[in-house]
Amino acid sequence: MNNIVLPSEKTPEITSTDETSLLVIILDSNPSQKTLRDNPHVLTQCVDSVIALANSHLMQKAQNKLAIMACHSKTSQFIYPGPEKPLDVRQIDGQYEAFTIVEKTTKHNLAKLLLSENSTVITESLLAGAIAMALCYIARIQRTKPPGAKLNSRILVVTGSGSSASQYMNYMNVFFTAQKQNVVIDVCALDQHLSLLQQGCDITNGLYLKVPQLQGLLQYLLWVFLPEPPVREKLVLPPPVKVDYRAACFCHRELIDTGYVCSVCLSIFCKFSPICTTCHTVFKVPAPLTVKPKKKKIKI
Ligand SMILES: [Zn+2]
Ligand SMILES: [Zn+2]
Repeated sequence: MNNIVLPSEKTPEITSTDETSLLVIILDSNPSQKTLRDNPHVLTQCVDSVIALANSHLMQKAQNKLAIMACHSKTSQFIYPGPEKPLDVRQIDGQYEAFTIVEKTTKHNLAKLLLSENSTVITESLLAGAIAMALCYIARIQRTKPPGAKLNSRILVVTGSGSSASQYMNYMNVFFTAQKQNVVIDVCALDQHLSLLQQGCDITNGLYLKVPQLQGLLQYLLWVFLPEPPVREKLVLPPPVKVDYRAACFCHRELIDTGYVCSVCLSIFCKFSPICTTCHTVFKVPAPLTVKPKKKKIKI
C-alpha cells in the first residue's frame, strides 16, 4: 500500500505582484546639443514624449516607480520627484491625478533649471555624472524597500549630445557599477551615434537605439523602451548593431583602435612612453628590431 504523502506547507511564494519596476529617465537638456541649436522647439517635443512614456510606465502597474532627471551642462538634477514638496493638483479634464502631478512637476522643475542656467559657455552634458546620481538613487530605494519585495531597476538616457571620450573613465566606472547592481542602462540617441553609451548598454544588457526620425520619438520610446527587459525577449525589436568597443587613450582622450597598455595598471596610451603617467612605472625602451642577415647557402 502506498502512503500518500501530503505536500508540506509551502512557503508563500513571492508573486509578480510584489515586483516593482523603477524607471529612472535621464533627459539631456543641455542647450548645446545640435538638435536643440537647430530647433529649440525639439526640447518641448522631447519633454512631452518622455512624460508620455513615464505615465505609460506608471500605468502598467500600480507599484511601478518613476524618477526623471535633467542633465545639463553644469549640473544634473532630479526634476521628478522634485526637491520641493509635491504640487497640490486637482483632477483636470478627467486625467488621473498621478499623471497630472508627473507632468506639472517635471515641466515646472525643468523650466526653473533652464532659467537658472543661462551661461553662453558651451560645455558637454555631464551624462556620466547623471548616471552615477541615478545609481545612487536606485541604491537608496533598494535599501528602503519593504522586505521580500523585488525591485527591478533600469535607467533610460535620452540624449542628442555627441560622443565625447573626455568622460571615458567616468563612463566605464558607472557602467560596471550598474552591471554589478543589476541595473539595466538603455540609451535613446536622438542625433548622433554614441559609441561609449552603446558599450554601456552592451555591458548592462540594455537596449541602444539611434532614433531614425526625431518626429516619431514617442513611437520609438513606447515601442522599444516601455517594455520591461524580461518582456523584450518576446518582442521583435530593432536588430542589435555591432558594438564599437574602442577605448579612449588616457593621454589625449581620443578613441583608438590599437595602442599601448600599461602592464601594471592597464592604462591605455596611443604612443609609447617610458613612464606610465598613471602609476609611474618605468619601462625599458624597446630595442629597435635588428634583422639578422640570412646565411647564404653554399651552392654545391
Ligand atoms: Zn593619446
Ligand atoms: Zn601604469
